[in-house]
Amino acid sequence: MAIILTLFTFLAISQTLYSSHAASPPAPTVCIIGSGIGGSSAAHFLRHYSPNSAPPIKIRMFERNDVVGGRMATVNVAGETFEAGASILHPKNYHARNYTKLLDLEFRTSLSDSLSLGIWDGKKFVFKTLEIDSNIPFVDKVVSLANSVLLFFRYGLSLFRMGSFVEKTVDRFLKYYDEPASRPIFETVDEMLKWGGLYNLTTRTLQDELVDAGLSPLLIKELVTVITRINYGQSVYISGLAGAVSLAGSGGGLWSVKGGNWQMAAGLINQSDVSLHLHEEIESVANLGDYYELNSTKGNSYTCEVAVVATPLDELNIQFIPPISIPKRKLQHTHATFVRGLLNPAYFGLNAVTDIPELVGTVEDPDLPFTCISVLKKHDEKDATYKMFSRQSLSDALLDSVFSVRKETIRINWGAYPHYDAPEVFAPFILDNRHLYYINAFENAASTMETSAVAAENIVRLILSRYFGKITLHSSNLSAGSHIEGSHIDL
Ligand SMILES: Cc1cc2nc3c(=O)[nH]c(=O)nc-3n(C[C@H](O)[C@H](O)[C@H](O)COP(=O)(O)OP(=O)(O)OC[C@H]3O[C@@H](n4cnc5c(N)ncnc54)[C@H](O)[C@@H]3O)c2cc1C
Repeated sequence: MAIILTLFTFLAISQTLYSSHAASPPAPTVCIIGSGIGGSSAAHFLRHYSPNSAPPIKIRMFERNDVVGGRMATVNVAGETFEAGASILHPKNYHARNYTKLLDLEFRTSLSDSLSLGIWDGKKFVFKTLEIDSNIPFVDKVVSLANSVLLFFRYGLSLFRMGSFVEKTVDRFLKYYDEPASRPIFETVDEMLKWGGLYNLTTRTLQDELVDAGLSPLLIKELVTVITRINYGQSVYISGLAGAVSLAGSGGGLWSVKGGNWQMAAGLINQSDVSLHLHEEIESVANLGDYYELNSTKGNSYTCEVAVVATPLDELNIQFIPPISIPKRKLQHTHATFVRGLLNPAYFGLNAVTDIPELVGTVEDPDLPFTCISVLKKHDEKDATYKMFSRQSLSDALLDSVFSVRKETIRINWGAYPHYDAPEVFAPFILDNRHLYYINAFENAASTMETSAVAAENIVRLILSRYFGKITLHSSNLSAGSHIEGSHIDL
């Protein structure tokens, strides 16, 4: 039913856009740089919001890697495939849900819901839940109830206050799924967040928000910190909004796409009649008046009336002519280390490997070498596949002390998500006041697959309304993009 409604909505909007096209400029070529969930969602929404334009909009997509999906990627450890980057989706990630239905992909319930948790402070486990390892639903329920009691004993009513803080934020985010007819097209991230009632959360730290919400210092120092370290590799001093999104990613009902989340990008691209240029990196984007010229490292040039940047610009050296200006920001690097082998109980001061929780989270301590370790799959009692996250690369010596057996190790260094700060300063969606757009400007609000899709949908509506010029922007009269002197970089 949801899909049918969505399709009706798409059709309604597209009628407006299509009819406005008749006396407007010819359909543009849209170049999209990046084939992750942001770029592929942009291609998808371009087709759905203008399905009948004649001649049709031409979409070119450039991807520097030889596969699509970006930070949605899998890794093969000893013959088995696991998510290497973005792994979990929230039950209310409606674009992702619609994509999986539209593309006939299979849902998989996330394992993380049922893992036993231990909070490690470098010397001892300050908190541990019980392991659910029974296959008998009734026993699972009892253990899960016992774990809720354990959590309540340690953190008390603060747990409910945390839940209601997260729920309130998720509910506000749901406004971005309102029917397009009643939802403005946003020209800036600030405007988009203010309309959703989420902007203030980006001006203060998660720590401050949670203290005001009445959470105890112990809950913030332990459980909340464990979650922000797992999901964003950062402390509770990230912005309140990134923090709330991170906490939402630790609740129940989490899911992923069976076989790999990257299939959402692949499917959307396949269905959207895109000229895909794999293994072709764009090195410059020049504004030549009525069109842009994109040059690639292969020595090719492409022209397009609209250019969409669907990747964070922070660590890239795409040359923009004339230069564009965006706020300086750092990416948080997360080192993902995959190990097939067996954890060493002695490292944790324990006697048996079965005493080690399946998900080991950590508190903030500069001496702790990793942020988390989780079991991805138990092959037998002496053989499992693990995923570790850390802020720095993990040396062989360290891994040899954490693991008693290590048959295979794979290391990936991700420029993973923004290094969040409060107050956040946002890059513009429209980079040059013409038709150069930046989806990942929204990533400084929160970095997830779903937020990329939500930002891409808004950018597509912005492109169509600005390019064809017939749609009145419903933008509210909120202030334009943030600007702090001296904190911008020219690219
Ligand atoms: C370790 C890790 C865990 C995460 N966990 C989760 C999670 O559980 N749930 C969740 O929702 N999110 C998670 N995220 C965040 C999520 O992955 C991102 O927010 C989302 O995938 C971003 O998608 P994107 O399309 O905006 O960017 P990307 O996926 O980064 O796509 C950008 C693409 O552009 C390409 N590109 C870059 N420069 C050029 C160029 N010059 N020319 C051509 N191509 C170029 C890149 O190769 C890349 O493929 C995680 C991220 C990491 C790294």
